[in-house]
Amino acid sequence: MVEDERDIATLIVHYLVREGYRAETVADGRTALARIEKSPPDLVILDLMLPGVDGLEICRRLRRNESTAAVPIIMLTAKGDETDKIVGLELGADDYLTKPFSPKELMARVKALLRRAKREEPAETKIQYGRLTLDSSRHQVMDGRKEIHLTAKEFGLLESFLRSQGRVLTRDHLLNTVWGYDFPGTTRTVDVHVRHLREKIPMLAEMIVTIKNIGYKLRDDL
Ligand code: CA
Repeated sequence: MVEDERDIATLIVHYLVREGYRAETVADGRTALARIEKSPPDLVILDLMLPGVDGLEICRRLRRNESTAAVPIIMLTAKGDETDKIVGLELGADDYLTKPFSPKELMARVKALLRRAKREEPAETKIQYGRLTLDSSRHQVMDGRKEIHLTAKEFGLLESFLRSQGRVLTRDHLLNTVWGYDFPGTTRTVDVHVRHLREKIPMLAEMIVTIKNIGYKLRDDL
């Protein structure tokens, strides 16, 4: 839990512990980065406004670092500003909540993200697509021999595409599959993440086709 407002941090940790999690708080950005990189936790709750290094910058750095790239991140923002949400998601947060939020809602998000992370672990399927390999048991994507680092959401999105090659997937379908039915985001979230996939994996720029006003399709004519 990265949060400089002591009351909020204490309250959330109280809830986390009551749910059976081990939780720790850090109150500033620099300490948070050092702590997370030293021993990556299963999940990070990250406040946007922090002294020193802010939440967006922390998010960006965690995503760049191989050992923390897949750690689920829930971003807390006080602004409720659409731009911040989009920026947060673009930098790799998996979910976000706007303050004031209910601790119960946060616990529900924590559970959902951890459940998803766990569910992806034991599935030992490898999917091959041209020179691209997605290994869900290792949460790894290889483009030839080069490893591609994806956020949890980008990974989920890619997996959805690979499992439905040649089929048109609507934005709503992708939003429900990858983010879950109770995710309050908009279909714009899907667009942002598809753009990231296309940027990170150049072959997808051509192979993921935009179906105007509907969604996307991964071509099956490799
Ligand atoms: Ca704060």
